[in-house]
Amino acid sequence: KRVENKVAIVTGGSLGIGRATCLALAREGAQVAVTDIADDDGKKLVNEIEAEGGKAGYWHLDTADEKRVNRVFADIAAAFGRIDVLVNNAGIAGVNKPTHEITKDEWDQVMDINVRGVFYCTKHVIPTMKKAGGGSIINLSSIYGIVGAADLPPYHASKGAVTLMSKNDALLYAKDKIRVNSVHPGFIWTPLVQKLAQASAEGEQAFRAHLDTLHPLGHVGEPDDIAHGIVYLASDESKFVTGAELVIDGGYTAR
Ligand code: NAD
Repeated sequence: KRVENKVAIVTGGSLGIGRATCLALAREGAQVAVTDIADDDGKKLVNEIEAEGGKAGYWHLDTADEKRVNRVFADIAAAFGRIDVLVNNAGIAGVNKPTHEITKDEWDQVMDINVRGVFYCTKHVIPTMKKAGGGSIINLSSIYGIVGAADLPPYHASKGAVTLMSKNDALLYAKDKIRVNSVHPGFIWTPLVQKLAQASAEGEQAFRAHLDTLHPLGHVGEPDDIAHGIVYLASDESKFVTGAELVIDGGYTAR
């Protein structure tokens, strides 16, 4: 198995890309700490993993709460004995308004989760990984951490930050054998994108059909497309990969 006996924390692990990642890591032999604020879905997922013969536990964790991050990561390290992999996946889309209409609070809400959350989780996993002699941190950026778009300004700014935070930390901790990479999904059909579709003027089906046309491969992606890339970055198969942008976008950014 590709990540046999590794201990992995996934933030925002209950639904969407995080959920697919937890399942994929567990199927490849990892012990998975599912963390989220959606507790019922997270606990159901742990049962599902255990029913398949995998190992997992659930912890309630709002990544924007630094004290809680520190405490939960200590609990996870005590429960599983180590932390080898951190997947910084929790994120929100935030408001869809032009920049000049966005309030400070709307801006801060996105930055608190998408940027500060990644910072807190990284900060509090580094000492444990350093002590263990290495690790792999995988940050969920986006195609919008590479190119711009005329919508969701705080979201795209937050993902741009995550792209560079990943490279900085890759350089800072290379000597400690801690690898840090970013993953850049195109549109993936998850609750996050479904909510955007439902709120759109043209309706869910027309919105999805439009998203399909944005990807040269002709369709939006599915959570497993991203989970498979994350398993690669979590595994030793990627032992020479750090500071890299793993783009999984159906060709979106190739144009
Ligand atoms: P989603 O909304 O479907 O799922 C996100 C999960 O994170 C949920 O379980 C939610 O409860 C949890 N969450 C939200 N706020 C949290 C917080 N403060 N603390 C802990 N957990 C929290 O989202 P998704 O589409 O699966 O996206 C996952 C990641 O991938 C995000 O960082 C997102 O920005 C990124 N991404 C998604 C897409 C896409 O098209 N779906 C594209 C590019 C990047």
